[in-house]
Amino acid sequence: MHDYRHPAEPFRIKSVESIRLLSRQERLRILQEARYNVFKIKAEDIYIDLLTDSGTGAMSNEQWAALMRGDESYAGARSFYRFEKTVREITGKKFIIPCHQGRVAENVFFSSVLKAGDYVPNNTHFDTTRANTQHKGGIAIDLPCPEAATNEQIPFKGNIDVERLESFIEKKGADKIPVVFMTVTNNSSGGQPVSMANIRETSALCKKHGIRFYFDCARFAENAYFIKQSEPGYQDKSIKEIAQEMFSYADGALMSAKKDGLANIGGFIALNDDGLRQKIIELLIIIEGFPTYGGMSGRDIDAMAAGLQEVLNEEYLAYRVGQIEYFGSIIEQAGAPIIKPTGGHAIFIDAGHYLPHIPVDQFPGQSLTVELYREGGVRAVEIGSLMFGGLDPVTGEKITAPRELVRLAVPRRVYTGSHLEYVADCIARITKRKNDLRGLKIIRQAAFLRHFTADMAPLKEEEIKVG
Ligand SMILES: *Cc1c(COP(=O)(O)O)cnc(C)c1O
Repeated sequence: MHDYRHPAEPFRIKSVESIRLLSRQERLRILQEARYNVFKIKAEDIYIDLLTDSGTGAMSNEQWAALMRGDESYAGARSFYRFEKTVREITGKKFIIPCHQGRVAENVFFSSVLKAGDYVPNNTHFDTTRANTQHKGGIAIDLPCPEAATNEQIPFKGNIDVERLESFIEKKGADKIPVVFMTVTNNSSGGQPVSMANIRETSALCKKHGIRFYFDCARFAENAYFIKQSEPGYQDKSIKEIAQEMFSYADGALMSAKKDGLANIGGFIALNDDGLRQKIIELLIIIEGFPTYGGMSGRDIDAMAAGLQEVLNEEYLAYRVGQIEYFGSIIEQAGAPIIKPTGGHAIFIDAGHYLPHIPVDQFPGQSLTVELYREGGVRAVEIGSLMFGGLDPVTGEKITAPRELVRLAVPRRVYTGSHLEYVADCIARITKRKNDLRGLKIIRQAAFLRHFTADMAPLKEEEIKVG
């Protein structure tokens, strides 16, 4: 290891966008107007926005130059062929189908492979992947490795449980499982990486049973970097070689380029199966447009192609992963427990442990999320009982979240080390008076995905139960 606090940004800043911290009084008013739901706060009223790393990254000078090169021809644009060449080189797949974001790739893919009642195993489904599977009548099955739920400091906690996958296939039968997915990195499991060994074993198992094996590969480059860092035999390989080997074990991949595409919009499907490609394209033309532009302008496609090349740069990835690791360490020093080891794109604070006096039905994660805005104009997102709890919209049963987390997602190439130190300082100030934080109650909510729109209010003295 080096003796620097974290790898310094391997870029300098050429264009700046002003951000401002409103006064405390204004922040209190805005929270009240937003009904204590940070999704309803305007971006201009946020100082540091850690809501998501999706589509929020900064483009390089090369990507801005690529925009100018964009070819806006309806069919057969040069932009498409540049993009196709890049994605073919990384994935090794014959057919590259552009889509304007990941969930459209999911929509057209699952519409083309699923029958009602089919199962789709995954290390852990991302929300839109789960929703698209269910929307086409499929049953989404999560099979994370047993270490995923522990706080053990081991690498590759994003792995799939191969033994459970094997017994699942034997129990349900391969004809009920049109595809097995692997999410790299495993977003919903804390951005934890998957090892090459796990990819190889899963691939072999799927091949044995004649089942397709696909990646949900939004963060494939971050995953490749973790393999280089921690898996024996990969230290001397380039990130591109590691990514190519990863993709060589899969039959295809769905990509949201809003993450490791370093683009603000974009995505694709990569595959070798020509019959499936034809089915997908028929649908794509109805939903997204002609298959050489897939719902995007030529300039968007060129920016994505340039981003996909840049993301393979090892200095960039060392900075990216190093920045997240450093961010985790200063948040811990500020007194908040986090999920470890840190993954590739976010820090997850365990708000249930941080605020044990707030019971789960009074939303400790949301209490901390609100406090982060009140304290420092920082926007995070609750991933706990507000997001996942409540009543099941279909069965009416009460659901509880596995953990009460607050996610601080880090946009790519946007915030410097000092921005992150500022956020950690906010946490340190909150830690000093954390026992005074109160829970919240829901005033109004929707049946589906309630966290986006719920109105909330802080609990009054007489409403507070002891946790
Ligand atoms: C973001 C994401 C998606 C969905 O992509 P969009 O571009 O937001 O539609 C799917 N899977 C994973 C793992 C993601 O992170």
